Amino acid sequence: MCGIVGYIGNREALPILLKGLKRLEYRGYDSAGVALNNGGIKIFKCQGKVADLENHIGTQNASGSIGMGHTRWATHGVPNDINAHPHSSQKGHFTLIHNGIIENYAELKSKLQHRGYEFKSDTDTEVLVNLIEYIYLKGNITPEIAIRLALSKVEGAYGLVILCDKEPETIFAARKGSPLVIGVGDNEYFLASDATPIVEYTKSVIYLNDNDVAVIKKNELKLKNIKNDILTPKIQKLDLELGQIDKNGFDHFMLKEIYEQPKSILDTYRGRINTNSNELTLGGLYDILPKIEHARRIIIIGCGTSWHAGMVGEYLIEELARIPVEVEYASEFRYRNPILYKDDIVIAISQSGETADTLAAIKMAKEAGATVLGICNVVGSSIPRETDGGVYTHAGPEIGVASTKAFTAQVTVLTMIAILLGRRRKTVDDNLYSSLINGLLALPEKIEEVLKSNDIIKEVSSHFYEATNCLYLGRGYLFPVALEGALKLKEISYIHAEGYPAAEMKHGPIALIDEKMPVIVIATKDSSYDKVVSNIQEVKARKGIVLAIVTKGDTVIKNMADYVIEIPETPEQLSALLSVIPLQLLSYHIAIMRGCNVDQPRNLAKSVTVE
Ligand code: GLU
Repeated sequence: MCGIVGYIGNREALPILLKGLKRLEYRGYDSAGVALNNGGIKIFKCQGKVADLENHIGTQNASGSIGMGHTRWATHGVPNDINAHPHSSQKGHFTLIHNGIIENYAELKSKLQHRGYEFKSDTDTEVLVNLIEYIYLKGNITPEIAIRLALSKVEGAYGLVILCDKEPETIFAARKGSPLVIGVGDNEYFLASDATPIVEYTKSVIYLNDNDVAVIKKNELKLKNIKNDILTPKIQKLDLELGQIDKNGFDHFMLKEIYEQPKSILDTYRGRINTNSNELTLGGLYDILPKIEHARRIIIIGCGTSWHAGMVGEYLIEELARIPVEVEYASEFRYRNPILYKDDIVIAISQSGETADTLAAIKMAKEAGATVLGICNVVGSSIPRETDGGVYTHAGPEIGVASTKAFTAQVTVLTMIAILLGRRRKTVDDNLYSSLINGLLALPEKIEEVLKSNDIIKEVSSHFYEATNCLYLGRGYLFPVALEGALKLKEISYIHAEGYPAAEMKHGPIALIDEKMPVIVIATKDSSYDKVVSNIQEVKARKGIVLAIVTKGDTVIKNMADYVIEIPETPEQLSALLSVIPLQLLSYHIAIMRGCNVDQPRNLAKSVTVE
């Protein structure tokens, strides 16, 4: 959450900052601001999106070759002009942008108020900038020391870029808990929350670690930790192409990402499935595979869509590898004092690799001695660095706030893990193995086929877009898909939606059904097909409107449901990967018909780096 960019070098900073902020806008978009240093620090900021900031700057002089920019996802204080970042200290010596939460801000604020500091905004961030200034003036020390001392008094999470009027040729950066990447150019440096604003200028990057502080001039970078130990920056090569972060002719990132799924799934299993061998290769698990294989249980943690992927993972691992699995919301897991054993395997799922709740849960699991694996999409992000092993999803950058291709890539990885464990534990025989592998290999083509139904799905959406509520039903592997379908609809169209196991309906939700209630049933031909057919009858008997996702050629449900969308046949264990696609498209079209901004839904932001 929240996007940060910074620049120091010889070019005009403003265009670089604005372009970078637009790339990061998926991380927050309730207000935006920039600060430029050109013989004095100038701030431009306002409520709204980056485009509003651009209008606000207009023709004003905003030149300077050192600067920073921020797009906010409010945690403390409503989105307005004053709470927008950057924030300056009372006497104007320091200006900073911040991603994260200063948890002890209230205590620090009252101490500063007693010492004469007044606050303009409601943010926790303004407390930090004033704390730095207070320590700086009181101690008569360098800005760098003041920053490090102030950070040692702060609890919570931060990604920071800081300017100081007394050192106009320097930009400071620091991180704890919130991501920050430095791009290394030729006599210039770029800073950003993730690599997307940097990739067009340089592919050499340094990922800051927790407690790092960087002191950057245009031709020099010094890296330390807050205790003043000097560190050697580790420069890595970015594996990201500019074309991956454009809309590529699509109206929205979400739609582009839905259409990318044949490729993102293929990229996720490419090189890992070898048709000539009887095993899958997951390099990142190699060292810990014997431990996982003999695990007493596996705990999967995640948030939102990743939690749904985890539920599919539970069904897959239990069925194919016969290891007990529990799935937990990372946020609940970390606070409810769970029982953890040293031989537990914890699998943490996060698209961004930065999800704060998941990271905190990982730390807790590690402290208890468990082995932790990550399933993440962003290479070099925090979770892969915190874990004992893991598997990247290779879905490419996901910019749309509503996750689509990350979900299917995560489920693809979980499917491979389940098959690999099943092979080693001899619970997946040769026949099942080849059916699953062939099923995976055929998936990209089958998804292409589902995508060809886009016009049908759009037409069906026109019957649903005025709904105020919606039920999603599925059984077995299709229950997590029902949850995910409902979440997609909620997130981007603001229609209230619930996902239920189809059989649970009669234990409560059936009371909701009347002629105004759309019920979306994922009813492909699998082991619970007949039962789901009965559930559809139960809905129809109460005049509910049924949209069914069915296997191609199904005639039984076609005669009962009001609308059907056909998808190709696939092994039951892979059905989540295919049946979720029409649900993604359905929520996309419904949201568009309701005039919603699908890439930037209200109140949401991607990469949830606050707890
Ligand atoms: N806590 C800060 C605020 O509310 C920063 C939030 C963010 O990460 O955008 O302003």
